[in-house]
Amino acid sequence: MTTHKTRMLIIGSGPAGLTAAIYGARAGLSPIVVQGLQPGGQLTITTDVENYPGFRDVIQGPWLVAEMQAQAEHVGTRMLWDTIVDVDFSGAGKAGAPFRAIGDSGDVYEGDALVIATGAQARWLGVPGEQELSGKGVSACATCDGFFYRGKKVVVIGGGNTAVEEALYLTNHSQDVTLIHRRDSVRAEKILQDRLFTHPNIKVLWNKRVDHFVGDTAIGGAGLTGVALIDTVTGEASLEPTQGAFVAIGHAPATELFKGKLELDAGGYVVVQPGTPKTSIPGVFACGDVMDHTYRQAVTAAGTGCMAALDAERFVAEHAFAAKG
Ligand SMILES: Cc1cc2nc3c(=O)[nH]c(=O)nc-3n(C[C@H](O)[C@H](O)[C@H](O)COP(=O)(O)OP(=O)(O)OC[C@H]3O[C@@H](n4cnc5c(N)ncnc54)[C@H](O)[C@@H]3O)c2cc1C
Repeated sequence: MTTHKTRMLIIGSGPAGLTAAIYGARAGLSPIVVQGLQPGGQLTITTDVENYPGFRDVIQGPWLVAEMQAQAEHVGTRMLWDTIVDVDFSGAGKAGAPFRAIGDSGDVYEGDALVIATGAQARWLGVPGEQELSGKGVSACATCDGFFYRGKKVVVIGGGNTAVEEALYLTNHSQDVTLIHRRDSVRAEKILQDRLFTHPNIKVLWNKRVDHFVGDTAIGGAGLTGVALIDTVTGEASLEPTQGAFVAIGHAPATELFKGKLELDAGGYVVVQPGTPKTSIPGVFACGDVMDHTYRQAVTAAGTGCMAALDAERFVAEHAFAAKG
């Protein structure tokens, strides 16, 4: 068992954690990033990224995040391959007592400031064809991928705020949007429902659950061609032809670790002071998708990662801790 000490400990290696690392390293805090089970985060499971500023041509998600990591290491970040399984914030507010985190490896990590950047994962339906056609017509992010379906027929699966927002957003690109919901009413806020039901380019298929996704998974193949549905009332099977299906049944922030130790909201997201990355514990900062259920983009994750590092640097300077990187 090894104890790793740093002035800035970062949990998570997506755009939020890596941006915090770049800023923290350049401020002389010798950050440690504990990477977790998905080094590089969600961008490693996508392909084309067209909306990250600075790149006129289409870039690949895994390449973008690899560049961020290379930059973070270049300026002095230590990347460690471990997953945090427990945290101890009992030293908060006491001089010289760092924030502690325990790795799956048994190693202990101590930071004068802690940045939580553990992200969130889209909830999937778990039906056949979904993962095989992910990135080939099946997506969980209309803001990210809607542009690729310009002029095509698309479907959105779900009945909450996210699903209705995604359907409305997709009308910017498609004139033929279908919302598929397994019940006979949506849970979305009234104002969203009004916009949904009055939109000329959106139709709703009620009482339908997705049985499986249909398509051609071969490289260069057609990708998604349809969604096989079952009527939840009659049991009747049907096929909804489409080239783009957006699964919008919510996200799960990776915050199990922090339950009872940090203030979380009803959805499990880390609560931060409005407009800041400051959590309910001074010295613990949160950035990226783990504290943001609204925007959920690489650039917003990077932006809040920057803010977390700047605030962590101020916190460490004000408290003049002893631990050295
Ligand atoms: C398929 C897909 C396509 C997308 N396309 C785009 C796009 O085109 N443009 C765009 O801007 N955004 C896109 N996004 C969204 C974007 O990827 C996310 O908003 C962004 O990655 C969030 O960054 P993050 O750093 O907050 O979290 P994440 O990227 O989720 O990273 C979380 C990190 O935390 C680590 N972690 C979790 N738990 C632990 C633990 N216990 N211990 C240690 N580490 C832990 C994980 O291993 C991971 O490294 C897409 C997302 C998906 C899923």
